[in-house]
Amino acid sequence: MIVARTLSELRGVQARLGSLALVPTMGALHDGHLALVAVAKGSGLDVATSIFVNPMQFGPSEDFSRYPRNEDADLVKLEAAGCALAWLPDVATMYPPGDATAISVYGPAENFEGAIRPNHFRGVATVVAKLFGQIRPERAYFGEKDWQQLQVVRRMVEDLLLPVRIEVVETRREPDGLALSSRNRYLSPAQRAAAPVLYQTLTALRAALHGGAAPRPAINAAIARLEEAGFVPDYCALVDAESLEPIEAVRPPSRLLVAARLDGIRLLDTVGVN
Ligand code: AMP
Repeated sequence: MIVARTLSELRGVQARLGSLALVPTMGALHDGHLALVAVAKGSGLDVATSIFVNPMQFGPSEDFSRYPRNEDADLVKLEAAGCALAWLPDVATMYPPGDATAISVYGPAENFEGAIRPNHFRGVATVVAKLFGQIRPERAYFGEKDWQQLQVVRRMVEDLLLPVRIEVVETRREPDGLALSSRNRYLSPAQRAAAPVLYQTLTALRAALHGGAAPRPAINAAIARLEEAGFVPDYCALVDAESLEPIEAVRPPSRLLVAARLDGIRLLDTVGVN
């Protein structure tokens, strides 16, 4: 595996690699990230994984400086996973002096995470566009877990006519259903014990909707169940899977999105509804 940290290093190695499949990450890699690498490898392309903790997507009160960084262990995992290129730019490479350009996606970026974390998706779209410009991947792989992020990236690619195919990889979970996340490491034992209720509630809600339950009362019951388990829900919603518009009745493709906090730790999850 080649490790590149500067644009000149990147240009030097790109000549030696074939077409690339990109897996953008913020590091602190877990098996969910490695699943993206494995699926990307299945494309037959050379896999490039980027590790960049993007300051632009963190709000002023968020955990940018506290975000877990574990570069040595990440590189060992990427090498073992068969990654061809690890791209580890620094902030000055991603945001050159005088930087004055950002990408604002409307539509799917506006509700939910976009409403709770102003400018978050502006940071995500901007950094992903920059990574696409640097790596020029044929395909790029994103996790289903961050469904809204996936739709924001898809929208941007379509609107900016970017020549990259966006692929989605299903959420990897702990045996008890908790979605793997870099933030799970912050859970206390008691919070870790409560955390699977998020996915359990989501799957029970989906089963109720599949059984013909009316969405509004079923969602209210799900919110109450989360509160009983100690969560502070930020949202629990039935949405159009692409536009992320809230909907009042299931009409495929639709999705359930949930975000809830256990003390300060925000957990997200999502499932499709047919
Ligand atoms: P992050 O490093 O948190 O920005 O995530 C990098 C990529 O990994 C994103 O596309 C995420 O959606 C994806 N990802 C994170 N957690 C999981 C998971 N549990 N299963 C599959 N993909 C994931």
